[in-house]
This record gives sequence, C-alpha cells and structure tokens, in this order.
Amino acid sequence: MKKISIVIPAHNEEENVALIHQRIKKVFAKIENYRFEIIFVNDGSRDQTQTKIEDLSREFEEVKYIEFSRNFGHQPAVKAGMDLSTGNAVISMDADLQHPPELIPDMIKKWEEGFDIIYTIRTYPKQISAFKRKTSTIYYKFLSAISDVNLSEGGGSDFRLMDASVVGVVRNMNEADIFLRGLSNWMGFRRAGIRFTAGERAFGESSYDLKKMMKFAFTGITAFSVKPLYLAAYLGFIFSVFSIFGYGIYVVHSFITKTEISGWASLIMTVVFFGGLQLIIMGIIGIYLGKIFKQVKERPNYIIRSKNF
Ligand code: UDP
Ligand code: MG
Repeated sequence: MKKISIVIPAHNEEENVALIHQRIKKVFAKIENYRFEIIFVNDGSRDQTQTKIEDLSREFEEVKYIEFSRNFGHQPAVKAGMDLSTGNAVISMDADLQHPPELIPDMIKKWEEGFDIIYTIRTYPKQISAFKRKTSTIYYKFLSAISDVNLSEGGGSDFRLMDASVVGVVRNMNEADIFLRGLSNWMGFRRAGIRFTAGERAFGESSYDLKKMMKFAFTGITAFSVKPLYLAAYLGFIFSVFSIFGYGIYVVHSFITKTEISGWASLIMTVVFFGGLQLIIMGIIGIYLGKIFKQVKERPNYIIRSKNF
C-alpha cells in the first residue's frame, strides 16, 4: 500500500489541529488503498497547540509531530515535515482549513497519472479582502517578471503534492532562506495544477500581517533573482548619458549667451536625489550580502525540540 504523508505547519492553531485531523481522516476513509500519516509541525506556538497535538498522537497512530524550539516560520516548518516524511508522496497544507482536504483525492489521482508535482491554484472567494487578492496577484506577476522562475500560476499556494523523488531533492537543499513556492517551480519535473477555492480560516487569526508578508515577498525576490543588483549598473548608465547631454547643452549655452546658468535649488535637489539613489542601491547590495552572510554560517533552517517518531 502506498503511503501519503501530510505535512501541516501549525503556529497558534490549538482549535484547528483536531478539526483538520478529522477532515483528513474522513477523506482517507473514502479512498481505499492508501495509508497516510499526518505530520504536525508546531512552529513555536504560544497557545495549547502542542498539548492538543500530543493528545491526538496518543489517540491516533497516524498523527506524528515535530516541535520546534521556537518560531522559525512557515517555510522551514514545511521543510522539516518533508525532511522527516516517509510517504511515497508528501502533501503540504495549512492547519487553518483554508486548504480543503477534500481536494486530496484529486491530487492523488493526478499523481497516479504520473505527475511529480501537483500544485494548486487558489481562486479567492468574495470574503477575502480585495487588497490581499490584488497584492498577491501583482506580487507574483512582478516576481515572475524579474526572476528566472515563472510563478504567475500556482505560485501563490503552499497546498501541493510532491512525489518522494521531488521531496528527496528538497531534502538535499541547504538554502538559508528557503522559499518552497519558488523552488517547486525551479526544480522542474512533471507538473500539474488543480484549482480550488480558498475558504476562510476556521479558528484563530492569520499569522501573516503586512510586515511578515513584505518580508516573505522580499525573500522570494532575493532568493530567485539577482536582477535588483543590476539596477545600479542600469541607472548609472542612464544618468551618465543624461549628464553628458546636459553638460553639452550647458557649454553651448554659456558660449552663446556669455552668462552662467544659476541654480542653487536645482543643484541641492540633484545632490539629495543622488544621495537617496545611492543609499537605495547600497541597501539592495546589503540585502544580498546579508543573505550570503546567513548562508556561509550554515545554520540549520530549524531546530527540533521534540518529536514522536
Ligand atoms: N504558520 C507557521 N509559522 C508561522 C506562521 C504561520 O507555521 O510563523 C502556519 C500557520 O499555522 C498555518 C500556515 O502557516 O498553518 C499559514 O498561515 P496563516 O493562515 O497565518 O497565513 P494566511 O493563510 O493568512 O496567508
Ligand atoms: Mg491561513
């Protein structure tokens, strides 16, 4: 019998863990011929999530858990689950039931057809704020435009199935800032997409505020593109050309009129403008330098405090 591992990162999800376990159990009761395990990854929750997961694992043998020593973030949590999974395929999904477990049979069907990665394409219900919907679409368009991986479709969801061979590849990656949405595209393999409507979070509240979303967005860009680094070269070139023309015009003007062009204000504005521009570009270089710094230290993506397998 083939085994499906389901990896569920959980950060403050005390009310949801039992609920999602029930829903998944129901789904697997309907499709025979598959064994399954659920790996909850408690990512430094401050509520009763760990106790709730341990209770479940005592009652049901398919429930496994990994407890982090602190909050490491959603992506490292998924990576940890994948690292320790034993299934022939691994499905990653959120704990808050925004990813319907009822989609699992369709994913498995596609997998049996020979696809290695089954990604999901989120279509939003009306309740999700227009702001989140729009920013997400724009972000993935932008990311695809400036990086080497295409993320326009299916990039935006962490609900996906990966064959054990793909999981093996992910396991061997040692990127300091792991960004699975991008990696799953970058790796290639035979891919298929399934559409689903994201529901509302069952209980609790989203851990992703604007600040975390921005950080996530930046990680994605800098992990998959070095194009921002070229910005300095491009802008430098453009402004050099401009200044040569400007200088030419100035020289001709002063020969013809025999007067100097005065302009204290424009001079100061130009100095301030270029000061700002240089700081921005230094900042961009700094971000990449920081990433290299993080990478060379080779710290692990996560630290496990306890696990039951
Ligand atoms: N999550 C996590 N670590 C974090 C933040 C979130 O493991 O630091 C988990 C969370 O428990 C959930 C999933 O990642 O299972 C998605 O998080 P959330 O629902 O808060 O994000 P949203 O759906 O609002 O984008
Ligand atoms: Mg959610």
